[in-house]
Amino acid sequence: MNTAATEHPARPTFDRQGPLSDEQRVEAAMRSFVREFGRTTALHLETCVHCGLCADACQFHVSTGEAKYTPIHKLLPLRRAYAREAGPFAPLVRALGLVKPLGVTELEQWQELIYDSCTMCGRCTTVCPMGIDIAELVKEARHGMFKAGLVPERLALMDRTARQWGSTATPGEDLPDILQEAAAEHGVEIPCDLAAAEILVTAAPAELGEHTRALAAAAKVLNRAGVRWTMHSEGFDAANVGFNNGDLELQERLTRSIIDTALKIGARTVLLPECGHAYGAARWEAAKWYGRDLPLRIVHMTEFLDELIAGGRIRVKPVGQSATFHDPCQIVRRGGLEAAARRVLAALGFQLIELQDHGLTGWCCGGGGGVVSNVRAAPLRQKVFEIKRAQVEATGAQRFVTSCGQCRITLEMGARQVQWGRPVESLLELVADNLD
Ligand code: SF4
Ligand code: SF4
Repeated sequence: MNTAATEHPARPTFDRQGPLSDEQRVEAAMRSFVREFGRTTALHLETCVHCGLCADACQFHVSTGEAKYTPIHKLLPLRRAYAREAGPFAPLVRALGLVKPLGVTELEQWQELIYDSCTMCGRCTTVCPMGIDIAELVKEARHGMFKAGLVPERLALMDRTARQWGSTATPGEDLPDILQEAAAEHGVEIPCDLAAAEILVTAAPAELGEHTRALAAAAKVLNRAGVRWTMHSEGFDAANVGFNNGDLELQERLTRSIIDTALKIGARTVLLPECGHAYGAARWEAAKWYGRDLPLRIVHMTEFLDELIAGGRIRVKPVGQSATFHDPCQIVRRGGLEAAARRVLAALGFQLIELQDHGLTGWCCGGGGGVVSNVRAAPLRQKVFEIKRAQVEATGAQRFVTSCGQCRITLEMGARQVQWGRPVESLLELVADNLD
């Protein structure tokens, strides 16, 4: 079921899924919030000093100037739920009616704030003097909204597909054919379903559709390094759909399928593609689910390339031009891989001209957290794109590189919209194209 703003012109756009009544939706959301109000969440919700620093860190607020897009405003419903249900004075707050209970209309209005105008980029988190992890709180808020069936329909559709197929791109049984076609098209060997391998290689959904070139680039590098690797139809999608939507149960199932497949074939490493949220979902969330150290390594493509080059397992030819680099939030700010990409760029002989804001403080591409797939958010995304475009232009660099396929797609969409003729290049593809 889809209820759009056209039916309620005065209200922000929202979608609904499933047959729940309004009361059931509110109850489902509240139950989820209360379950997640652990000590850390409580600390984060209690310690805001309203300094306003996070407002200027958020690309949606900066691009639009609208107060509703300030990070702390995006958390208001969660704070109200906390005050009424789990805060130290919750019984008193309820008895005296100090904080009004949340209603379904407020949840519906909230949808735009935590899905359309938050990429969970964590830029606000880095500036908060109280260390409040707003991005993590938005993830918890999305979990409640998913339970309430109040998710943007595009994301819900992807969720249903992933629940059915184990991937948003394709059912596993079709993977061998997809890989065979990609291998033929790009003239590279892509092993599939080997019974044993050192490395299980995964793909972002787009790489199994329009962007098989990225998959071929990975294959070229892996084959040159001489490692025994495979993709596998039982675990191949470096999924982030559950993470983005708030369907954490789905995310756990998808991530576990990769890890379990790797263990089954004796792989000691799972290689993640150039995708930011997949890195967050697999690398950091998986360890929480297993409740102990993971029995294998999960590495992002960027750190893998860095290791191969540093260890002399592949060599690259220098390109010899200037380049600027877009830091993907989930890989750099949330993932700590700032130096690895720069070492790879240096190995490629690029003269790096940094963006005014880069590394931990780099601006988001505007499409993370599912925003790129959420058609409703396109106008907002386009406004955010202008921040990046201006900073790239200011560098005067000849090339514009990034290490996340989703960032690249978002930036390309932004560039197309304003006919900005600057290609966005993949670090992986640059390495693959310049193997020595
Ligand atoms: S996580 Fe990013 S997009 Fe979301 S509120 Fe913070 S700065 Fe804005
Ligand atoms: S920066 Fe932190 S303390 Fe300041 S308003 Fe934002 S969340 Fe609150």
